Amino acid sequence: MRDQPIAVLGTNPVSIPHALLVRQWSDDVIFFAHVVEPTADELAQLEVRRVQVVTGRVVRLVVEADQLSAVELSDGRVIPRTAVFVRPVNAPHADGLLTGLGCEVDDAGFAIVDASGQTSTAGVWAAGNVVDPRFQVITSAGGGSAAAIAINADLVREDVERRSLE
Ligand SMILES: Cc1cc2nc3c(=O)[nH]c(=O)nc-3n(C[C@H](O)[C@H](O)[C@H](O)COP(=O)(O)OP(=O)(O)OC[C@H]3O[C@@H](n4cnc5c(N)ncnc54)[C@H](O)[C@@H]3O)c2cc1C
Repeated sequence: MRDQPIAVLGTNPVSIPHALLVRQWSDDVIFFAHVVEPTADELAQLEVRRVQVVTGRVVRLVVEADQLSAVELSDGRVIPRTAVFVRPVNAPHADGLLTGLGCEVDDAGFAIVDASGQTSTAGVWAAGNVVDPRFQVITSAGGGSAAAIAINADLVREDVERRSLE
């Protein structure tokens, strides 16, 4: 999509930083506000990055020959674009597993852990995206490695403690 006329659709507050980000790829970026109302500060940020802001509801993506060609607004405007980015909201997929085990989670539901991945529940470690949605494969695997070391040390400590009780 580099150097092409691209867009970001405003679906949640993180759509605005996403528009600032994709501006790295093209000089022609439109932020379709859609359901998002940018604050004065956010509008200033978009202006600094020379991201054009188009207000109004988006009703349709125009697709021709299996290619996106434009974005249509409820007032009838049709604005040519070759790609539209939609920023998802990240949510941990833990199915109540963490909370069911009594682990503390933050407001968004991600596990609260120490540097080794230890949760607030003894004997339970967490690693990867269930801890932080920004983690990539390398950081998730690193978290898993740190947790494995800590779990092994915990098992050794438990063995030592058991023997001392014999
Ligand atoms: C679109 C996209 C593109 C990405 N691109 C990159 C990239 O280019 N490079 C990069 O490094 N990273 C990339 N990532 C991030 C990368 O995928 C993650 O950081 C990584 O997969 C996290 O690993 P994880 O083991 O924490 O979680 P996951 O890979 O999500 O694994 C968690 C597993 O647990 C399972 N699970 C959930 N609940 C339960 C339960 N109750 N019981 C049993 N199993 C359960 C899930 O089904 C899943 O299989 C991308 C992510 C996305 C979404």
